[in-house]
Amino acid sequence: MKGVFVTATDTEVGKTVTSCALSLLLPNARVIKPIQTGCLEGERGMLVPDVEMVQSLGGRANALHCFYPPCSPHLAMELARTSLTCADLAGEVRAMADREPDAPVIVEGAGGIYVPINANETMLDLMLELGLPVLLVVGNRLGCLNQARLSLEALQLRGLRVLGMVLNRVQPANVCDPGCGSQAVGEDEERILTDNVRSLKVLGEKTGAPLLADIPYLGGDIARDRLETLFAPVAHTIASSLRPLDRKRDEQDLAFDREHLWHPYTSATNPLPVYVVKDTRKNRIRLWDGRELVDGMSSWWCAVHGYGNERLVHALQAQAARMSHVMFGGLTHRPAIDLARRILSLVPQGLTHVFFADSGSVSVEVALKMAVQYQISLGRAKRRHFLTPMGGYHGDTQGAMSVCDPINGMHTLFTGLLPRHYFMERPSCRFDAPYDPSSLDDARAKISALKDEIAAVILEPVVQGAGGMWFYHPRYLVDLHKLCREHDILLIADEIATGFGRTGRLFACEWAGITPDIMCLGKALTGGMMTGAATLATERVARGIGSASPELGGGLLMHGPTFMANPLFCATALASIEELLASPWQERVAHLQSLLEEGLAPCRGREGVADVRVLGAIGVVETQHPVDMAALQQFFVDRGVWIRPFGRLVYLMPPLVTPDADLQRLCSAVVEAVEKGLA
Ligand code: PMP
Repeated sequence: MKGVFVTATDTEVGKTVTSCALSLLLPNARVIKPIQTGCLEGERGMLVPDVEMVQSLGGRANALHCFYPPCSPHLAMELARTSLTCADLAGEVRAMADREPDAPVIVEGAGGIYVPINANETMLDLMLELGLPVLLVVGNRLGCLNQARLSLEALQLRGLRVLGMVLNRVQPANVCDPGCGSQAVGEDEERILTDNVRSLKVLGEKTGAPLLADIPYLGGDIARDRLETLFAPVAHTIASSLRPLDRKRDEQDLAFDREHLWHPYTSATNPLPVYVVKDTRKNRIRLWDGRELVDGMSSWWCAVHGYGNERLVHALQAQAARMSHVMFGGLTHRPAIDLARRILSLVPQGLTHVFFADSGSVSVEVALKMAVQYQISLGRAKRRHFLTPMGGYHGDTQGAMSVCDPINGMHTLFTGLLPRHYFMERPSCRFDAPYDPSSLDDARAKISALKDEIAAVILEPVVQGAGGMWFYHPRYLVDLHKLCREHDILLIADEIATGFGRTGRLFACEWAGITPDIMCLGKALTGGMMTGAATLATERVARGIGSASPELGGGLLMHGPTFMANPLFCATALASIEELLASPWQERVAHLQSLLEEGLAPCRGREGVADVRVLGAIGVVETQHPVDMAALQQFFVDRGVWIRPFGRLVYLMPPLVTPDADLQRLCSAVVEAVEKGLA
C-alpha cells in the first residue's frame, strides 16, 4: 500500500479540502475515510458530505464506516452499539488499497491525533497500524503554533514520518478569530496569522516536517483549478514519497552488512542470509520490501508485550528526557530504587538484594562471582567450581560459557581458556511425566563426591532453553535445592529465559516453590525495549559476602559495569513489569498453551519428528536430525512468519499479545515444514 495519512491539529481545520486536492493532483489517487461521523440522512440512505465534495470535483472517495452524530468516533460507535479496533480498520483500508496496488491512497483521519476510536485506541494507533507517512493540516488561527508543535511531537515521537504541514486559513478575512481576544481588530489578527506562517516555517525546518503550503480562506469557493494550484507543492512532496522503494539502496545496504557486520553465531566471510527489517509493531515484523511477518520468537524471548507498546515507549522517552544515564558509583536514583523494590516484591520470598547488570550473560558472571565470594568469605577458598546439568545455557561471556553444555557449547573451541567445571546428567524426568526420584541420582553422587570444590549449582529452572528447549519436573528442583542446602552449596537459578510469565508462572522457581540463593533475570525484564538484567541474592549470600575480612575481599562485591542500573533500563523495566501485571497474562499464557498444543499436535508421530512438547507459551518440535536453518528460515519467511530454528529444534515463543489467528499461522507453518520434510 502506498499513500499518505492526512491528520490535523484539530477538527474543522481543512483536512477534507486537503485530501480532496490531493485526490485530484495525484494520478489515480483515492481518498479513504475509515470513519466518518456527522453524516446526514439522505433520500437514498446516508449522505456523506465530505465524500460528496471530493466526488463533485471529480475525485474518488469512500467512507468505510459512517455515523450520524457529529462527534468523536468512539462516542458515535458507542451510540450505535458497535466497536471497531484499529487493526480492523487498517485491515479494511489495506484490502481496499490492495485491489488497486498502483493507486495511492489518501487516508483521512477523523479530527486530530488523539481522537479516540475506542476505549483503548486513538487515531494515532490507526496511523501506526497503517504505517503510512503523515501530512499534518494546521488551522491558521491563534493557538496553532502550540497545536502544531504538540501534534508534530506526538507523531514523531512514535516514529511516524511526517512529510510536512499544510496551513489553512479557517475564517474569512472579515471575521476575526474569537480566540484573538475581544479587543482584537482585523489588523491584530492579520499580524498573528502572518506570524503563524513564519513561525511554522521555522518549526518545519527544525523538525524536518516543512510547511508545504499556506492556503487562504476558501469558503464555498472550491474550484478544481484553484485547489490544484494552491496544493501543487503539497502533491509534489507526497508524489516523491510514493516513488517505488529504492532497491539499489537496499542492495547496497545488504552488501555492506554482508561485508562488515557480524551477526550472531555466523561467519563474517560467508554469512547466512539476513532479512532487512523496516520496523516492528505489536507481534509483527515489517520488512523493507513490504512483507510483514508474524513474530514467533519474541526477539529471542524478550518482547513479551510485542513491539511499540505505548507504556514502554513513553517510559523510555520520559526517562531519556529526564536523565538517560548517570554513574551508579557513589550515586543512586529513583528508577533503580523503584525497580529493585518492585522486583523484590515479586520474586520468591527471601531474595533481598539486587545487582543490576547490563545483559543476561553479565548477570550470570556476577552470580558466579557472588557464589565464589560467598564461599571465600566463609573460609572455603577451595570451593571455586560449579556444578551444572548437561543441556544448560547461560550466555556467551567466558564465565557463563564455562557452565554451558560442554558438547553444544564452545568448550572444545576454548579449551585452556575456560575454567573447568563439573557437569551432571540433564534432569531426565519430563515435566509432564510422574516424578522419578532417580533422576536426581547423578546430582546426588556428584555433590557428595565434589562438595568441597563446589561453590554453587547453576541451572535454568524447569525449562532448559537454548541448550535444548527441555522441560523437566519441578520436583527435581525441590530435591536439588534440599541437597544443596545440606552441603551449604548455593543454588543459582538462571531465570533469564523463564522469568516474567513465559512458563505460566511469573518465575519458573514457583513451580517448585523454592527460593534460590541467587537468581538471574534478563530478557523479558525490559519487555525487549532495552538490554538489562539483574542478579538477586538472599540475605544469607549478601551477608556472607559482606562479612569477609580485608584479606578475603573486605566484603565488597567485585563488579561494577559502567552502565550499571542505567536509568533508561530501570524505567523501561519497571514499565514492562507494570504492563505485564496489569494484563491478564496468566490467562493469555494458558490460552497460548492450549493453542500451541492444538496447533502443533499434527507434528506428533510424523516422520523426522522426535518429540513435540508445550509448556506455557513455549511450543517445541524436536526433530531427529539437525535442520537446514537457512532453507527453513526462507520457507517460514515465504509463509509470513518469523521462526528461527536451531540444531534439532523448531520452536515457538511468541509475544504474549499474539492474536489467535496469528498463532495458528505460526503453528500451521511449522506443521507444513514438517509435512514437507524440511524439519
Ligand atoms: N541465560 C539464559 C537461560 C539465556 O537464555 C540467555 C540468552 N539466551 C542468557 C543467559 C544470556 O543472556 P544475554 O544474551 O542477554 O547475555
